[in-house]
Amino acid sequence: TYILGIETSCDETAVAIVRNGTEIVANVVASQIESHKRFGGVVPEIASRHHVEQITVVLEDAMKQSELNWEDINAIAVTQGPGLVGALLIGVSAAKALAFAKQKPLVPVHHIAGHIYANRLVQELEFPLLALVVSGGHTELVLMKQHGQFELIGETRDDAAGEAYDKVARMLDMPYPGGPHIDRQAAEGKISIDFPRAWLEPDSFDFSFSGLKSAVINTIHNARQRGDRLEKADIAASFQESVVDVLTAKTRRAAELHQVKQVLVAGGVAANRGLRTALEKAFKPMGIPLLIPPVKLCTDNAAMIAAAGTIAYEQGRRAGLELNADPSLSLQ
Ligand code: ATP
Ligand code: MG
Ligand code: FE
Repeated sequence: TYILGIETSCDETAVAIVRNGTEIVANVVASQIESHKRFGGVVPEIASRHHVEQITVVLEDAMKQSELNWEDINAIAVTQGPGLVGALLIGVSAAKALAFAKQKPLVPVHHIAGHIYANRLVQELEFPLLALVVSGGHTELVLMKQHGQFELIGETRDDAAGEAYDKVARMLDMPYPGGPHIDRQAAEGKISIDFPRAWLEPDSFDFSFSGLKSAVINTIHNARQRGDRLEKADIAASFQESVVDVLTAKTRRAAELHQVKQVLVAGGVAANRGLRTALEKAFKPMGIPLLIPPVKLCTDNAAMIAAAGTIAYEQGRRAGLELNADPSLSLQ
């Protein structure tokens, strides 16, 4: 099976083709980061316009890269949501036009299912598994007992991990997106500040990062007001330690409780070196295999949508041409 995936939920215009749900045949991503940088975040209106300009170019690139013909493609998978509605619409419209013109089945995919299935492009999944989803808009623990079935066992009550990274980075005058910059600075700094960790109720797998974010912002304000030298690297290291500590501890406890066969990490923050190291240290002694996709597959791409779309296609999920983007689509 060859599934063509389309992803336009945020600021990446992406098209990919995946064979049998596991093998990347083509993977093209047009990033808009440069256009949003000067605004310090993604501007929805600009994102939509870029998607319109890029989608056909990216699609043609992907088809060329794959060396396949349209007859070879079994179905078109597209991110239906969640994300920016105007951005999602471009991908959904393109997918519908293709499905109609080429007479292919149309398969709607949840963006987070995509992030999780990026792991299947690296290694075959074994159930039950636990996925730690850490992205720009989501921080979730998802239990999967079989393909295509997602059970949300914990989620953030306020900010997502990536959002906290980006906000703290902005306070430290680092460019957007801030996650990679904090990651780099953290490697050079000392964990000198004891920032709070929101453990919440003892049996809760939920997260909260707004208190931590405020604590970091207060520390920065106070240092500036006193005219102290701002040790950015130390703030980055201490902030990252606090985030990683909670993410690792809750993931480990959930993995133990549900006796999972694999732990998957998904989403842009999975690129974080501090998090990768801490999770490896936690799961190695437990003998639970830890899967983390390469950085290129952690951030938004369409190969992950095609991978999740393959399972959805095999399970018979289809959409008609009335398919609409859903900015707040839920995973279950
Ligand atoms: P969602 O998937 O929830 O809709 P999104 O698609 O915007 O959100 P992703 O593309 O998965 O999010 O990830 C982007 C986020 O990952 C940004 O917040 C970015 O700062 C963060 N990020 C990327 N690399 C790193 C890193 N090395 N360390 C920490 N955060 C990182
Ligand atoms: Mg992005
Ligand atoms: Fe994403």
